[in-house]
Amino acid sequence: MELEKKTLGEPILKVVHLKKWFGGKSSLFSSKKEYIKAVDDVSFELNAGETLGVVGESGCGKSTMGRSVLRLIEPTAGEITFEGKDLMKLGGKELRKVRSKMQIIFQDPYASLNPRMTIGEVIAEPLEIQLHLSKEEIRNQVLKTMETVGLNTKYYNRYPHEFSGGQRQRIGIARAIVLQPDIIVCDEPVSALDVSIQAQVINLLRELQKKMGMAYLFISHDLSVIKHISDRIIVMYLGHIVETATKEDLYSRPLHPYTTALLSAIPIPDRKAKREKIILEGDLPSPADPPSGCVFHTRCYRAQPICSEKKPEFKDYGNGHCCACHFCNCENEEEKAE
Ligand code: SF4
Repeated sequence: MELEKKTLGEPILKVVHLKKWFGGKSSLFSSKKEYIKAVDDVSFELNAGETLGVVGESGCGKSTMGRSVLRLIEPTAGEITFEGKDLMKLGGKELRKVRSKMQIIFQDPYASLNPRMTIGEVIAEPLEIQLHLSKEEIRNQVLKTMETVGLNTKYYNRYPHEFSGGQRQRIGIARAIVLQPDIIVCDEPVSALDVSIQAQVINLLRELQKKMGMAYLFISHDLSVIKHISDRIIVMYLGHIVETATKEDLYSRPLHPYTTALLSAIPIPDRKAKREKIILEGDLPSPADPPSGCVFHTRCYRAQPICSEKKPEFKDYGNGHCCACHFCNCENEEEKAE
């Protein structure tokens, strides 16, 4: 397989005001339609060859966002531009063609593989759908891809149930890279695996990125995993982006109270070192009835009266470090929002 190296740094995906709302039914007691706002006004860019981590508690909308970007689920509103093409305007053949460049790795390596297909068939399927190749060419491509992800080619005719979780995730990765995509949405790709296997899969993803130059939108609830793999990070809460920054900035200088609380919960390897753990009270509110003003105000340890009244602006505090908070941890007092 010819592995093409891409230029790093140019935006290949632009997402503007993306929304994914579910429902729209009237309730028993009111004629007003109710929506579950899983993703509500999310904008970001993904650069070629980078890993953009997306982190947040389970239920914050990160997986829905990842799938909406690929149009695996239809967004409610927003713009998605991939390599200059408006994805929202594409359909049928054109969308299928673009999709060959945008792949996904799913969380559950057990559920994401068809148990009735051999490994060879699973990996060959995208090639058969997208390219007009002979059977022999497809077989060769599959065998090369199996080698690339560290799968023994003698397993070509075996079935998914014969493999361990880590190997199954390698099969999922092989299927995702066989068309040499530009973007892969990695949706919690290691959270179903043992910790020792997690490191192997993460290292494999990093090696593949170095060789093939694709960008990852890497979704995880695990801040240690996100720190290990990401170049930049988005923090999501209740369908909104509350902070985004480079990995270095986010971990050394979190601005949003929610990010600060998440980071305070990461275990420190040095037992003598102390860090105050911030416990967030209560559960994630329902996206069907999000809080007014700042969506985090019902759990925020720094909330003030204004927080429930006025939605904070998503402001850039330098170096692309953006945060949506009236009272963020900005070192410079003058930079604090009024
Ligand atoms: Fe907390 Fe207020 Fe900032 Fe929201 S705007 S994160 S409630 S301090």
